[in-house]
Amino acid sequence: MTPLPAGSTIGFLGGGQLGRMTALAARSMGYDIQVLDPEANCATRPVASRTITARFDDVDAAVDLASQCDVVTLEIEQIHPDVLDAVAARVPLYPGRDAVYIIQDRIRQKEWLKAQQFPLGAFVAAQSAQDVADIVRTHGACIAKSTHGGYDGRGQVRLSEPEQAVDAWSALGSRPCLVEAMVDIYYEISVLVARSPNGATVVYPPSRNHHTSGILTWSVVPAVISDEMTARAQSLARAIAERIGIVGLLAVECFVTKTGELLVNELAPRPHNTYHHSERGLGTSQFEQLVRAVCGLPLGDPSVFAPSAIVNLLGDVWLQDAAPDVTSALNVPGTRLHLYGKAGARAGRKMGHLSAIGTDSQDALGRVLESYRRLSPGTVASFDVQEPVLKHISS
Ligand code: ATP
Ligand code: MG
Repeated sequence: MTPLPAGSTIGFLGGGQLGRMTALAARSMGYDIQVLDPEANCATRPVASRTITARFDDVDAAVDLASQCDVVTLEIEQIHPDVLDAVAARVPLYPGRDAVYIIQDRIRQKEWLKAQQFPLGAFVAAQSAQDVADIVRTHGACIAKSTHGGYDGRGQVRLSEPEQAVDAWSALGSRPCLVEAMVDIYYEISVLVARSPNGATVVYPPSRNHHTSGILTWSVVPAVISDEMTARAQSLARAIAERIGIVGLLAVECFVTKTGELLVNELAPRPHNTYHHSERGLGTSQFEQLVRAVCGLPLGDPSVFAPSAIVNLLGDVWLQDAAPDVTSALNVPGTRLHLYGKAGARAGRKMGHLSAIGTDSQDALGRVLESYRRLSPGTVASFDVQEPVLKHISS
């Protein structure tokens, strides 16, 4: 592919914070931006030359976007397949329809991973409340997930008794859902892979991630895990990216169990919250990397140049009696505040993040968590932001 010259236009399906940060990277490389999002005041709007306000199943609106763009990418997988087809018929669409189609349905994604023999925890596609009850009887504690539209722990119900199945089934809309046995997680990692249209591939160092109630709290890189696990996770992620034929980015979320098993949790064909630190300490941020990939430029170096960490800022931070103490937070050396420009703080809604670089992973994580505790002392009790000791995990 001939690289797209500066001045070309990149279209974004989805204009949330991932689109915004990618668009900022694209702008600094000289590209123009247009975006399609259902929300008129989406986070990418201030960075885009044109914003089309339309749903992700609006084929005419998507054709309108494609008609003024040289390439189209996406920052959310919940795009109707007809929209993906209509865009791809007019301009290059990266990632392509097939990868997004597999990933956008949780059951389809898990069944594809299973058919390709990638390592997974036990799961069942439940067709009824009775199925859910049977799975819980067989596996014990489970987590039921809606097939579409779930994120940040939404669209998920945890259950430990078969009697809870009826409520779980109706909470998820009385529709087929994915039910997974609860994995006995030792720690969580993710691996980001970038792939260009000519098949060149770059694999990032794994990120170590911590969630509270299904929402990402913090991520740090390097992950402080063994070289052996690093190599295993990277080769797994590379194999999945190649098999699914991603062009752009693929984030592979993984669980490592207490017995040393490496399991795939889920895939994301776009920038990922667990790699926001790549903007601080790695040779090439995930946002710049996506731009490079879809524009046919050489992929950048993903190496760690400074250990770095992030902590998410949810709407809860702005719902306290006291305003966030930005001055105190930014007095922690090495930190930066990233806000997504979203109006309307709601509990659990991602509004921004703090990042920090440090001398090692423990130091970077310590700095960013200290910055968070200063920013929002009122939310510390409900959000797990105490500093863990990142001892080297050798399994
Ligand atoms: P996100 O959008 O933040 O990636 P999500 O809504 O897509 O989240 P998942 O990744 O499926 O949801 O789950 C969120 C978190 O919940 C996981 O990172 C993990 O901490 C926990 N979790 C999910 N599935 C399981 C499981 N089968 N066993 C144990 N914990 C799980
Ligand atoms: Mg997830």
